Amino acid sequence: MKIVLLGATGSIGTSACNCIRRFPEKFRIVGMSANNNIEKLAPLVREFKPSSICLGNSRHPAPMDLGNLAARVFYGEKGLEDLVEETEFDLLLNALVGAVGLRATVAALKKKKKVALANKESLVIGGELINGLIENGRGEIIPIDSEHSAILQCLCGEKRENIESIILTASGGPFREIEIDALKNMTPGDALNHPTWSMGKKITIDSATLMNKGFEVIEAHHLFHLPYDNIRVLIHPQSIIHSMVEFHDGAIMAQMGVPDMELPIQFALGFPERLPLKGKRLDLAAIKSLTFFEPDFKRFPCLKLCIDAARQGGTAPAIVNAANEMAVKFFLDGVIGYPSIAEIIESSLTEHTPQKIDGIEVIERADAAVRNNLKKRYAR
Ligand code: MG
Repeated sequence: MKIVLLGATGSIGTSACNCIRRFPEKFRIVGMSANNNIEKLAPLVREFKPSSICLGNSRHPAPMDLGNLAARVFYGEKGLEDLVEETEFDLLLNALVGAVGLRATVAALKKKKKVALANKESLVIGGELINGLIENGRGEIIPIDSEHSAILQCLCGEKRENIESIILTASGGPFREIEIDALKNMTPGDALNHPTWSMGKKITIDSATLMNKGFEVIEAHHLFHLPYDNIRVLIHPQSIIHSMVEFHDGAIMAQMGVPDMELPIQFALGFPERLPLKGKRLDLAAIKSLTFFEPDFKRFPCLKLCIDAARQGGTAPAIVNAANEMAVKFFLDGVIGYPSIAEIIESSLTEHTPQKIDGIEVIERADAAVRNNLKKRYAR
């Protein structure tokens, strides 16, 4: 199977390379991208010998030692879409971070290809558009997000119409038990200290605010075609149950495992086959107990903002996503405090009127308007 791997040097990309390395007779990388990390990309290019590469920045005119490899080099956001359009492949593994991933997903689906999707923003901001393509027989999405992979695994052999509800689990992040009044003093270092998962910076902050879980509610809605009333969020601090499906006879199926992204990535690559994976096994006797709590919207206002926007539909989730991407960046840069992340999202939702989605451009216009507005206000 020929694979295009976008976001090759990030946390998911690195795990994906490990999975692909294990099955050289099954998988071959024919295209890869990295935003800025040329030092990390160069050895991957020499190892996997893709025919197409995309670099985030044209100011690096391929200063890579590619050995004898003659690869086609694309640049920038447009380059990601061009690479997908112009490279012959079977599966796109989209591990880009942020709204920038949408065009690549859409381009692959239009070519009727499979998309192993780690870029959750594709569905968050473009879910209506993507489902329109899939309903018209264009391509297929296999989720990589651990929760949605868990749901897909729980659904193997089951009829979709028998689902009563989906229960997405969330670790609750590092601020699950801190006094709500103390949240205003939390630094980027505090927020990046995730208790169970090791991930990139953006998603780790989104896990502290639970915005990530809000996005995953939207993903689940679009992937499994369930109304928002039938998608629940449950805090589960041990991150052992990756999500659950409740069926119309009251049975609940849960997928469990150690918190490691290699399983969902490999499951997506092999789907519908389940490929072997050595490594750490779950020791339930050592874990002893699994606990669960309802999320508190006072502690996690971003979760409520996101779900409310999801119910509103149209470009409302794109507005939330753009405001959140900017706010997280400002927080990491020390420009704003932790509570301002939610405040910026809330004010962006009142300042921008959501539009109906009739194409990718309306989403991109909403995204750009929010970013420009916030850049003017907060950029140093
Ligand atoms: Mg997840």
